[in-house]
Order: sequence, then C-alpha cells, then structure tokens
Amino acid sequence: MNTTLFANVRVLDCLGSPPFAGNVLIDSGRIRRITERPETVSAASGSDGAEAQVIDSGGTLTLMPGLIESHAHLTIDNVDDLAKLGAIPPEENTLIAVHNARLYLDHGITSCISAASAKPRLDVVIRNEINAGRIPGPRLLAASPWLTVTGGLGDMRTLHMPHTESMAIVADGPEAYRRLTRELIREGVDIIKLVVSGDSFVPHAGAEATVMSESELAAAADVVHAHGKRMSAHARSAESVKLCVRHGVKVIYHANFADEEAIELLEQHKDHVFISPNIGFTAVAAYEGSEWFTEEQVLEFGFREELAGAVEVVKELKKRGVRILEGGDYGFFVTPHGQNARDIDHFVRHLGYSPMEAIQTMTRYGGDAMDLPGGLGVIREGALADLLLVDGDPLDDPLILLDRDKLTVIMKDGQLHKSPSAIAKR
Ligand SMILES: [Zn+2]
Repeated sequence: MNTTLFANVRVLDCLGSPPFAGNVLIDSGRIRRITERPETVSAASGSDGAEAQVIDSGGTLTLMPGLIESHAHLTIDNVDDLAKLGAIPPEENTLIAVHNARLYLDHGITSCISAASAKPRLDVVIRNEINAGRIPGPRLLAASPWLTVTGGLGDMRTLHMPHTESMAIVADGPEAYRRLTRELIREGVDIIKLVVSGDSFVPHAGAEATVMSESELAAAADVVHAHGKRMSAHARSAESVKLCVRHGVKVIYHANFADEEAIELLEQHKDHVFISPNIGFTAVAAYEGSEWFTEEQVLEFGFREELAGAVEVVKELKKRGVRILEGGDYGFFVTPHGQNARDIDHFVRHLGYSPMEAIQTMTRYGGDAMDLPGGLGVIREGALADLLLVDGDPLDDPLILLDRDKLTVIMKDGQLHKSPSAIAKR
C-alpha cells in the first residue's frame, strides 16, 4: 500500500516552529497533506482513491523527519587503524557496508552523505542495491575514497613498504587528479572526496598545513563540474577552506582553523556551501575518551584545543547564516556506528545550540545538502516522505533518538522500514 496516514501525532516539522498536533498523509513517497486537528481520519485516501493505512498515535507520539548523516562512512567497521582498514579484502568490506546500511536505517538515519568509501566502488554498489530495493539502507550519496597527496592524511606507505593501503588513493599533480576524478565518476560515484589539509595525528602534515595544491584541487573541480557531480573535502587549515570555497566544494568538513577571511568567504557563498564540523570524534576524545586515550595523549593530540577552535568557528558561521551540518565521523573506535545522533547532544552542550537548532542540523539542513527535488529533512507538503514516529519528545531530550525502541516507526521514501505492531485500515 502506498498511502499512509499518521493520525493524531505531534508534528515536529523541523522548519523551526514548535510542534503542533496534527495529521500527516503520505502518498507515493511524498508528504501529501498536513492538517491540524481535528480531521476526520476516515477521509484519508491516496491519489488513486485507495484507502490509507492509518497509524494513530493517540496524540502521544512525535512525527519528525528521518535523520541525515552528513559525514557517513558505511564501509568502515569501527576501526582504530587506517592500515587495518586497507587490509580488509573487498568481499568482506562489501558485507561490512551492507550490515552498516541496515544498521543506519534501524537507527532512524534515512539519508547519508558519504564522506569517503573504503574502496573505490563500495559506496557505489551499496547505493545501487539500496536504490533497487534489494537491501535495506538509507538514501546514500556515494563517495570516492579519500584522494590525498603523498605524505597527506591516509598515505600509510613508507619507502620500504610502498604498498600499504588505507582508505585513500594517493596521487600527485593536476593531471593525476584529472584522470582519477574522471575514472571514479565513470565508476559511479556522486562525490569526489579530497583531502586538502593535514590532521593533528599525521606526522608530516599537521592540521594547519594545506598539503593539496590549488592546481590539483582545480583539476578535480573542472572534471566534477563538467559531469554535474559534487566534491567534499577534509579541510582543517584556513587556506584549505578558502581553496575549497573558491573551487566550489559543496560540503567542507572540519574547517576548525578557518580565519576571518575564510569565514567571510563562506558567508558570501552560503547559498551553496555547507560546513560539517565533525565535532563528534573530537568531543568524545577530548572529554570522554579515557577508555581510549591517556590524559597525555589528549594533550599531545590537542583534542581540547581542536574542539575549542571548532566551537569558535561554528558559532561565528551560524551567526552569519552559514548552514552547519551534523556529522561526527561515526564508524571509528570512539564513535561507533549507530551513535550518530549523539552529535545533536554535542551541538547543544558544546556549541550552545538549542535542541531545535541542533536537530535541524541533522534534518532540515541535511536535507538541503542532499539537494533532492521536492525537498527532504522537513515535514512539508511535497517533500520526500522519510519520517520517524518517536515515543517521546526529542526537543526535551534529544538523546532519546539513540534508543531504537523509542523509534516506533521508521519510514523511508513512503515505505515502512519499521512498522508499529498494529496498523489500522480505514
Ligand atoms: Zn571522515
């Protein structure tokens, strides 16, 4: 049946206003009609006149958009070592991704913007299987592996072990970037992921170093734009953020060392650029990481300074209306898959967001970044019907979104992935 009526629900539409009591009719994968109570439920029918299945919450449950993860790594298996990831054969790695795709949907994450695939075609095949309805999973924008320069983040090789793999493809020079980008687009990726800056734990490419050259980035950008695809980038340093904005990178990850010039540039381009600060890993490592890091390591890696820098940048960008996305590098040892909604709480605690604003980073703005016709991430007539029916009030306690038992209904594209025990038909 294509038509579903959510009756007597609290509608948290994620457009910014408080929830209201109402009914939401879904037909053919779209939100067709939103009415405020009282509505005669028996009037519900689909576009073809067929009767609707009715999910009546009795006024107690909250209907909200499905969650959107802006920095997904479905092909990673909670690893603590990039070289270990590189050692996983493609067959096993495919199964890891299949399991994670299902896990994400089970956790109410109905869309993912991949922030790099562990191997070139993994995201692509998983996306295709999900779209064909053969495996359960979120809507997925498939990314390439990290494209990184020699000595950059993800280059695990040494002179005596030149074949050590990670989740990166190492390339140098604009021609290499042009060819690789063409090849990966030929293989079906939606997103070319570039590693433009270093990172705090990379020996010879720190977080404030801009290691990819402008000519390399520009070559990839030329190809991406010619094919109507998109780029995302690992960009911590101020210069890397500026390069990304100038060359049309759509989702910029981290940006924690953005300076005034970078912030101004982001503001000028705020109608098409998104910042995903990825504070999840950093916040956990900085203040809750004693299980994994000694106090000395926390200080050595500078996790607290990194978080403080991100907080300053995000606050400034938010003030200027730049859209900020949730996404915290889930899939690593300190940030296991499925815990993604913790970022909503991190945004409240560390960035001073209200619960509503924080939830919007994982719904409304994520939907803007997915950029699908009709819209996504909000409850609005015409938008795509990815919805959660939650037992509780996420505005009161966003952490309830981590509890799978509280997600009584999970709908993607108008289809029920998780159904309530009893569905009435009228
Ligand atoms: Zn990542």
